[in-house]
Amino acid sequence: FKGLMAGKRGLIMGVANNRSIAWGIAKSCAAHGAELAFTYQGDALKKRVEPLAAELGSKIVVPCDVTDAASMDATFDTIAKQWGTLDFVVHAIAFSDKDELTGRYVDTTADNFTKTMFISVYSFTAVAQRAEKLMTNGGSLVTLTYYGAEKWMPHYNVMGVAKAGLEASVRYLAADLGPKAIRVNAISAGPIKTLAASGIGDFRYILRWNEYNSPLRRTVTIDEVGDSGLYLLSDLGRGVTGEILHVDAGYHIVGMKNPDAPDI
Ligand code: NAD
Repeated sequence: FKGLMAGKRGLIMGVANNRSIAWGIAKSCAAHGAELAFTYQGDALKKRVEPLAAELGSKIVVPCDVTDAASMDATFDTIAKQWGTLDFVVHAIAFSDKDELTGRYVDTTADNFTKTMFISVYSFTAVAQRAEKLMTNGGSLVTLTYYGAEKWMPHYNVMGVAKAGLEASVRYLAADLGPKAIRVNAISAGPIKTLAASGIGDFRYILRWNEYNSPLRRTVTIDEVGDSGLYLLSDLGRGVTGEILHVDAGYHIVGMKNPDAPDI
């Protein structure tokens, strides 16, 4: 499989540090020969992302805040100028005010609801609009979602509603872009300790619960999510679009607590 991604060029959006899920996917793609470009959210993350990008031999590392259309345009202009075409994009971006990722969903504010939806849902469509123009040979887009889109989860609140919207976007984008051989999929990752996850109330409990109750009796790593990303982004996934692929040690099939699980 060494040459699986040889000749493919991809944009990785959402690396904050070496614990980021986007970093796991970037590593898997680079290991199989992909050429990568990276975005970082702002100056604070520049110093973290630049050395990581360099580790994978990337020559394009640009700032991009998805709430700023001009910075989105500039990112895709850079890709257009440097590469001309684009084969894949990883969108691993979400945000919500931490104060609303605890307590009750019903208490969510209009402001944070709007902000959460814009950054965590609309930004993927905004990316697809720009990527479409560069994917003249077809392409593959992957975003990251969570089981809290499908079922109620404590503390996930407005982010669960956002992920449901994101998953619906995957289906609508897949239908729109399919005729151009652009595939659109999401990975529904099990809980992983990242910067974003640290904003979710009682995250350690969620990790432990998954470890005790998932069929594989453990949680997943960014490297495992990375290899599933590789499948969707490479030609191995060429027949797959509009899919929500669970990479969660099987947790999504579980209907009841494992009777052998210890108390948490
Ligand atoms: P992370 O903190 O490493 O990544 C989140 C990224 O979103 C950061 O790089 C941050 O800079 C970026 N971001 C936020 N607002 C932005 C903006 N306005 N413009 C540009 N970038 C912005 O955490 P992660 O867990 O790797 O998150 C990546 C994705 O995976 C998210 O969509 C998250 O919801 C999803 N996910 C995470 C888990 C988990 O347990 N960690 C599980 C399932 C899905």
